[in-house]
Amino acid sequence: MVEGYIPTSLSDALTELANHPYRLVAGGTDMLVQHHNLKTLPINFKQDVMYIANLSELQGIQEEEEFITIGACEPLESILEHPATPKLLKDTILEMASPAIRHAGTLGGNIANASPAGDSLVPLYLMNAMLEIQSKDRTRRVDIKEFITGVRKIALEPNEIITKIILDKIDFTKATFRKVGPRRSDAISKLSFAGAVTIQDNLVMDFRIAFGSVNITVVRHPEIECQFITKTVQELKQNKEHIVSLYREYIRPIDDQRSNKEYRKQVSLNLLRQFIDTI
Ligand SMILES: Cc1cc2nc3c(=O)[nH]c(=O)nc-3n(C[C@H](O)[C@H](O)[C@H](O)COP(=O)(O)OP(=O)(O)OC[C@H]3O[C@@H](n4cnc5c(N)ncnc54)[C@H](O)[C@@H]3O)c2cc1C
Repeated sequence: MVEGYIPTSLSDALTELANHPYRLVAGGTDMLVQHHNLKTLPINFKQDVMYIANLSELQGIQEEEEFITIGACEPLESILEHPATPKLLKDTILEMASPAIRHAGTLGGNIANASPAGDSLVPLYLMNAMLEIQSKDRTRRVDIKEFITGVRKIALEPNEIITKIILDKIDFTKATFRKVGPRRSDAISKLSFAGAVTIQDNLVMDFRIAFGSVNITVVRHPEIECQFITKTVQELKQNKEHIVSLYREYIRPIDDQRSNKEYRKQVSLNLLRQFIDTI
């Protein structure tokens, strides 16, 4: 029979995890869908589970001079309502699930689930999010793009927990998240797009582009972005079709029940064009 463990502190959780291979549950909104069993109740977990959403060390949002730190088990809805949350992340969370799911679902859960359609991953890649990860014996920090290694694959040891998400405070001139799904809410993305730009004295000082649901994980290429730093806004716009052509080879979507690859590719590149047009 599957056992459940509810730790009373992070230290208790990490000690228990060092001795026993538990499956972590935060809001449970991904886990319950993945392990639901139409024939029987309760849910058909294959491994003992540890419930971590109640741990105060994994909650809260702290604003420092240069960073914002979000607890991995902070519910999406609280992140949406917090004044320190970057607007780009708020705009993204507003497009995720429904308020009821957002009250339970967490940012840490969305990251660890590592779905190619995980919406928060797109702005988090764009903002170079760092993750703090703890085990009983060490704390490490890793860039989100090194943490997610493939479809539902992450670089997390069985004795580790994601504790925090750390974001640089960046004042973009313009930052946009666009999601294309079958309906406005409670819909998994067919594709998503985020763009951000910082303009000073008509010069492009920062230019970032990320696409979701069009490859095994988020598509972001800083080596393309940096080619347009210190160009004027007019030069950037004149290069629109060239920029689209540079991303074309990296947009490699699949056909599935939500959409087909031609549609995903065409609409993703159109969202890039629209973003450049509106700078
Ligand atoms: C109706 C519905 C609509 C949805 N709509 C969207 C949507 O629009 N966009 C979207 O991106 N997602 C959507 N989701 C998916 C889900 O709600 C989100 O991915 C949510 O953020 C998951 O968080 P959670 O806390 O519920 O994760 P859980 O289900 O608790 O966990 C998910 C995975 O993360 C691991 N995990 C959780 N926390 C940690 C941690 N701190 N450290 C290490 N591992 C951890 C778990 O072991 C598990 O493998 C939807 C789900 C439902 C049911």
